[in-house]
Amino acid sequence: MTVPVFRFAPSPNGELHLGHALSALVNAQLCRDAGGRMLLRIEDIDTERCRPEFEHGILADLAWLGFEWEAPVRRQSEHFADYGAALDRLIEAELVYPAFMSRGETRAFVADREEAGRPWPRDPDGAPVYPDQDRQLSSRERRTRIAEGAPFSWRLDMEAALERLAAPLFWEEDGAGPGGEIGRIAADPRAWGDVILARRDTPASYNLCVVIDDAIQGITHVVRGRDLYYATAVHRLLQELLGLPVPAYFHHDLVLDRDGRKLSKSRGDTALRALREAGATPGDVRRMIGLKAGFGAAGLTPGVSPP
Ligand code: GLU
Repeated sequence: MTVPVFRFAPSPNGELHLGHALSALVNAQLCRDAGGRMLLRIEDIDTERCRPEFEHGILADLAWLGFEWEAPVRRQSEHFADYGAALDRLIEAELVYPAFMSRGETRAFVADREEAGRPWPRDPDGAPVYPDQDRQLSSRERRTRIAEGAPFSWRLDMEAALERLAAPLFWEEDGAGPGGEIGRIAADPRAWGDVILARRDTPASYNLCVVIDDAIQGITHVVRGRDLYYATAVHRLLQELLGLPVPAYFHHDLVLDRDGRKLSKSRGDTALRALREAGATPGDVRRMIGLKAGFGAAGLTPGVSPP
């Protein structure tokens, strides 16, 4: 029998807060219940925002919480070659194209359209879908602009990618979606439009790295916050295009602040380090995020808020 493999995958771009504690502890519990192995992955592709001191803080916070993981830790910044190789395969397959509009230019383009009374589609995270101008450039125009030094990102040609699929995409949801979805979920990545796979300033995007790493690390169970539920459709598509194995997914509740918003790294008051320094114990953290001492996943309450 194959042993289930879980992973916790924080980004060292700030301090861990109560939301991360929930994610780590739910992961650990489900891993124990399944008799699995727990891996830790540091998602530090954004070399501008990620810092070694945050990584040290993450390791210290997790150890304090009693979260245990196997060595070695996989650090994404050490594996850009793996992501580059996957991107090359998609370039070769003509499923990605160079996209020349910066974030600011895209925003301005969309604002212009909307001011003219033409509503513009948003992706599930609320960002405007990338305009299709660049997708329609001829290969000659692309070569010229690149030769002129125009900065560009690589984006997935969503329609072309969907056309390559032999069968509709699904995933197994063992947690719950925002509307309580569970079981076999039909994945619909179309709403994301031409997602970015490599940025001009970062050689690979979260969506690309996460599927490559889950495959390389042999992850069978992905346990993470519900904010990533809709992105799973993009992950399923990339897994299919790259011929990668498909883990089961468990999306758990988010810890919300008093105003009902997802916690953010910029709000220090729920940071684990601050709580620890103020004398809180790991047991206090469990209580704050609605986990009972020997909790199971069923012991979670939806949209738990710290007191
Ligand atoms: N690095 C992501 C985060 O910190 C988690 C990604 C994942 O679990 O797939 O939100």
